[in-house]
Amino acid sequence: MSYILALDEGTTSARAALYDAQGVRRAMESREFTSRFPQTGWVEQDPLEIWRAQLDTTRRTLSAAGIGARSITAIGITNQRETTVVWDRHSGQPVAPAIVWQCRRTAAFCQALAASPQAANITAKTGLVIDAYFSGSKIGWILEHVDGARQRAQNGDLLFGNVDTWLIWNLTGGRVHVTDPSNASRTMLMNLASGDWDADLLSLFQIPASMMPRIAPSSAVVGTASADVLGAEIPIAGIAGDQQAALVGQACFHAGLSKNTYGTGCFALLHTGPAMPVSRNRLLSTRAASTSARAEFAVEGSVFVAGAAVQWLRDQLGILKTAAESEAIANSVPDTAGVYMVPAFVGLGAPHWDASARGIITGLTRGASAAHIVRATLESIAYQTRDLVEAMEADSGEPLRELRVDGGATANNFLMQFQADILGRRIVRPADIETTALGAAYLAGLATGFWKSVEEVESFWRIERAFEPALAEQEREDLYRGWKRAVARCRLA
Ligand code: ADP
Repeated sequence: MSYILALDEGTTSARAALYDAQGVRRAMESREFTSRFPQTGWVEQDPLEIWRAQLDTTRRTLSAAGIGARSITAIGITNQRETTVVWDRHSGQPVAPAIVWQCRRTAAFCQALAASPQAANITAKTGLVIDAYFSGSKIGWILEHVDGARQRAQNGDLLFGNVDTWLIWNLTGGRVHVTDPSNASRTMLMNLASGDWDADLLSLFQIPASMMPRIAPSSAVVGTASADVLGAEIPIAGIAGDQQAALVGQACFHAGLSKNTYGTGCFALLHTGPAMPVSRNRLLSTRAASTSARAEFAVEGSVFVAGAAVQWLRDQLGILKTAAESEAIANSVPDTAGVYMVPAFVGLGAPHWDASARGIITGLTRGASAAHIVRATLESIAYQTRDLVEAMEADSGEPLRELRVDGGATANNFLMQFQADILGRRIVRPADIETTALGAAYLAGLATGFWKSVEEVESFWRIERAFEPALAEQEREDLYRGWKRAVARCRLA
C-alpha cells in the first residue's frame, strides 16, 4: 500500500494526515504551537517551533498509521498564508520571529501607502487591497528593524519565505527555496497576471530579489525531503495556501464552483478559471492552486468574525456553555423577534472594509431573550456570507450554483439551513470537512500519478448532507434588508 502525506500547517496548530489511493484519510495527528502578542495588535510565532511541531506531528501520524516513510509516494504542503519568515541561508537560523498574518505592526505604513498615488497601481498588479495582512510590508519591517538585516539581505545572505517555503527548506536540508502561486499571490509582491515577482513592487518595499523563493506550480515535484528527516527520501509535490487548498479539497476545480469555510472567521472563494478577475466589489483577486501548469484564479472574500461571535456569547456573555449548544437554543425560538447582531468586533472585512465599525445588537424589545440573541448571532454568520456572495455574483455576473462548506461551525445544522434560506442556494456539506489537508494531498497525488486525473479526484468527493432553501423569496429579502439596516448602524463613519 502507498499513501500521500499532507502537512497542514495552520495558524494555531500543525497537522499531518495520510491518505490512501481512494482519497480516504487513514491517520491524522496535530500539535499546537505558541503565538506571542508582544504589543497591542502584534502577533508572532517562533519559526523553529513551527518546524518542530510539524515534524513531531508528522512522525506521530506515521507511527499511528503503522507505516514507514517508504510507503509515502509524495508530500503535499498547505499553510497559514502571508505569515513571514526571514532566515540566514548559511545557518538556517531565523533572524526574527515569524510575523503572523494577523499582525498589525505595519498598519500605519500600509495606510500611508493606500493613500499614496501608487495605490491603484499596486491593487491592479496584485489583486489585493493594500493592508498589513500581506507579506510585503512584514518583510520590509524585518529588514528595517532587525540589526544588520538590510545589509545581510543586500549581500544575498538572507532568504524570505511564507511557512510553506520555510517547511520545504527544512524538509530538504536547506537545498530547496520554493513557493507556489497561491502563496506568492498573498505577498503583495507578485504580479498576479504573470505569476512572477514584480521588480517595481520589490523596490517599493525595498526587498532584494535574491531573498525571494522560486515560484513553482502548485502541483509539481519541487524537491525531495531528505532521508534523515522522515526516514526515506520523499518527493514534495504539492503546495497551496490554506484557503486555496480547501478549494481543491472541495473539488472546486472549475470556474463557478465555490466554497466557504466557517471557522473563527469565514473565507469564501469562487473559482474563476483561467481569466484573471478584477473585482469591482472590493473582493480580493488571487491565484487558485492549479492542478496543471496553467494559471487559474479565484476571487476571495473574508469575514473577520464568524464562529468567534459564538465564542463571544460563550466566554464574554456567558449565555452558552458550548458552541454546539447554540443550535438547540436557536431552534427554541421561531425567529429572532426582530433582533439583529452585527459582530463587527474588529471592524468589517469584505466587502465593507471598514476598520472603524464596531459590533452592535439592534431591535431589542422587552420580550427579547438570550435565545433571540443566540439565534441572531448564528444568523449574522449567514448574512455576512450573503454579503460576500452578492459581491461575488456582481463580479462574475453569474449566480452561484451552490456553496460547498467546511470548517468547525458547519456542524451547526440550524446555521446551514439558515444559510441556504438566506442565500436562496443549496448548501452542500461534504463527508470529509478536513478539506485543507485533503487539497494538499490531491495536489501532490496528481503531480506524481498517484491519482491519474482531476476527474478521479472529483469522484472521491462525497456529500454528507445538502441543505435546500425553504424560505419564500419575500421573507428572505425582508430579513436581508433588516440586516443591511443593522450593518449601516454599526458603521461609525
Ligand atoms: P479555526 O480553524 O478558525 O480555529 P474551526 O474550523 O476549528 O476554526 O471552527 C471553530 C469555530 O467554530 C469556533 O469559533 C467556534 O465558536 C465555532 N463553532 C464550533 N462548533 C460550532 C457549532 N456547533 N455551532 C456554532 N459555532 C461553532
